Amino acid sequence: MKLTSKAYADYLALAYERIHEQEEYVTDLDLATGDGDHWANLNKGFAKLAQMRDELAELTLDELFKKVGMTMMAVIGGSSGVLYGGAYVAASKALSGVEALDLAKLAEVLDIMLNDIMMRGRAQRGWKTMIDALAPAVDALKLGVDDGAPETSAIAAMVQAAKHGAEATKGMEAIRGRANYQADKGIGHLDPGAVTMAIQLEALGEVALGTI
Ligand code: ADP
Ligand code: MG
Repeated sequence: MKLTSKAYADYLALAYERIHEQEEYVTDLDLATGDGDHWANLNKGFAKLAQMRDELAELTLDELFKKVGMTMMAVIGGSSGVLYGGAYVAASKALSGVEALDLAKLAEVLDIMLNDIMMRGRAQRGWKTMIDALAPAVDALKLGVDDGAPETSAIAAMVQAAKHGAEATKGMEAIRGRANYQADKGIGHLDPGAVTMAIQLEALGEVALGTI
């Protein structure tokens, strides 16, 4: 696996397509437990990133992550904008001099993003947020790296873990985020942020597999 800036820019464009086609589904999820803007926020940010594809592909990876982070903070808005934006900027600091992400570096980058989101959002695993899709994905990827698993299996495991993690938010009680304001704490509903995190990781897995 060799995720260059060009491949990463391709991933962002694919993520935009995937997010874009889920307008009704994601909006309805956020209407059930939040304020209904999650899809619109994220779609706006990824549309901008997809539009910047050629420009991003020309940057070094650390510059790309920084630019993506700043763009997300400026364009997405809501909790997601700050959390994703901050995570990308944090990850950019581990990428100076790195020309392409191999499996171990991708695991490191996603782990940095996870920790930054948990710190900035003051949230833990199991609190019904985007963390519940990202954290199991990071665990699965790290396990694959540590075990020396074939790259295809490690990436497939990461994607599966993200999807299962997002599914599991249905039974969780929200501690952070707007679902916490609901009387039922969102129990019985999927967390929209976890669902869109899984959509992103699935697109990332697809592009990563294409570089093997
Ligand atoms: P807002 O809640 O400000 O309207 P969005 O609708 O863009 O923001 O995003 C909502 C999603 O953000 C939630 O579904 C949840 O996954 C995630 N989220 C919200 N607050 C936090 C937090 N403190 N930590 C981690 N994730 C959070
Ligand atoms: Mg919202």
